[in-house]
Amino acid sequence: MTIKTDENIIADPNNLSESYECEYLVIGTGPGGSVAGAKLAAAGKDVLFIEDGGYYPTESYTTDISTMISTLYRDRGILPFVGKPAIAFAEGRCVGGGSVINGALIWRTPPWVLEEWVTKHGLDGYDTRSLKKHFVSIEERLNVNKHKIEEGANLDSYRLMQGAGELKWKYAFAPRAVKECINENYCPTGCISGAKQSMLQTYLRSAASDGARVLANLRADKVIHKNGVASEVRGVVSGVGEGPRAVRIKFDKLVVACGPLQTPHLLRRSSLSKSAGRSLEFHMNLKIAARFDKPVNAEKGTIFTVQIQEFEREGVLFMASNYRPHYMAMTLSHFGAKAVNAMLDNYDDFALYVAMIRPRSRATIITSLDSRSPLVRYKLDPADVPYIKLTLARAARLLFASGAVELYLPVAGTRPVKSMKEFDEAISRAATGSFEIISVHAMSSAPMGSDPAKSVVDTEGKLRGFENVLITDASILPTNIGESPQGTIMAFSSEIISRHLG
Ligand SMILES: Cc1cc2nc3c(=O)[nH]c(=O)nc-3n(C[C@H](O)[C@H](O)[C@H](O)COP(=O)(O)OP(=O)(O)OC[C@H]3O[C@@H](n4cnc5c(N)ncnc54)[C@H](O)[C@@H]3O)c2cc1C
Repeated sequence: MTIKTDENIIADPNNLSESYECEYLVIGTGPGGSVAGAKLAAAGKDVLFIEDGGYYPTESYTTDISTMISTLYRDRGILPFVGKPAIAFAEGRCVGGGSVINGALIWRTPPWVLEEWVTKHGLDGYDTRSLKKHFVSIEERLNVNKHKIEEGANLDSYRLMQGAGELKWKYAFAPRAVKECINENYCPTGCISGAKQSMLQTYLRSAASDGARVLANLRADKVIHKNGVASEVRGVVSGVGEGPRAVRIKFDKLVVACGPLQTPHLLRRSSLSKSAGRSLEFHMNLKIAARFDKPVNAEKGTIFTVQIQEFEREGVLFMASNYRPHYMAMTLSHFGAKAVNAMLDNYDDFALYVAMIRPRSRATIITSLDSRSPLVRYKLDPADVPYIKLTLARAARLLFASGAVELYLPVAGTRPVKSMKEFDEAISRAATGSFEIISVHAMSSAPMGSDPAKSVVDTEGKLRGFENVLITDASILPTNIGESPQGTIMAFSSEIISRHLG
């Protein structure tokens, strides 16, 4: 893998010094950190970003999915939420964070969610009208546009749209942060055409050109503080080189944006907060493989171009997912080798779909002081079981209406189903522990709020008890959203820095 060093981005860990000083230290370069740092740098502040993962520009991406997953994801993309059933969670670990490996959907926060946050969590000034200016600016900078279904591409989404039309279900074209997407279908492993407008392509570049420095392969291990003032980060060089090496960074102000799992972990390890990580909210994804009676050539397309929103207020969305043999094999793994081989023999007739739900289940982040990674435990809320079953039933109806002739459900121990009757039989026998659930959206582990007893950060984004620590990532969202969170995270980060700069 080639590593190119851009000006102000130190990609080679061997080039890192033993100590740094800056006015603002931003930990983490995902959407939450990048917006904050870019905005501070544009205001003339001296900004230093540090990022645990490496720096991988577009030229370094390959079509080798396994290599790219181990390069761009934390722990090779497998962070289990321990519970019954276990949930496979994935997050990015590279300069740009999750924006490098995500589907590039940039949705505005649903208005009813913001209303709830304003009324129940006291988030004055975070209503739809007030946040609009941030969304408009974000959408412009990321070239967010409604993805069109082109001739001969995204037939999987087109079929879904037809099915929704037949059932008279509401749908919408997805707003995506892409420039000239050519349907390469490698969104989750680094966009090889460079179409995706990740943080690396946008906010981090502008921050660097405004003088911000970005140090890759440097993990914040601990924050040093005294009497409510944070002053220094002890970092560890985490990339290639001569093994662990310590780096000290002194700062005036700190922005923590390590993502929804790592932020509370760092806060707890550093004794900055006792309540961070007590409750983590997330979305659940249920993946369904569908076989059609004629080719849909799903590989020629991209992710999530159409979103079925009929049950959005209930927290349920349906979309087509990325399609490559790797993803299909992972989805079908609980059906065994025979099913995987059958799929490969009829590859062009298959497509992958996802039902995303906003569950009631909650997780807790467990941090031990000597552990590098947090442990996440969750408890399946009993109300989520009928909710999952109902969602799968709706997905099956939709997919049969879309022309699918056989469905492979995310339920261990079931056989592929060819009708709603077969679906009902399969699902009636499904045990709670048999659902195959994945998640790529976590949030709310250091929630913002006006009540000090119920929130970890105040409505200015400040960590309670500290005047010079801001948090600007997915952790601060008061609850799960029921929609893709990147747009919301960026808008919140932007609002916090606007307030901070006055
Ligand atoms: C496969 C996939 C698809 C997705 N699709 C979409 C989508 O289409 N639309 C959408 O809205 N959302 C999507 N998401 C979710 C979205 O990417 C995340 O919600 C978002 O990236 C979270 O932003 P963040 O800034 O909070 O954290 P992150 O993006 O996770 O960034 C945090 C960064 O901090 C770094 N870090 C962590 N700990 C430390 C430390 N101690 N020291 C230094 N650095 C550290 C991490 O390595 C990481 O790069 C997807 C996620 C995945 C995994």
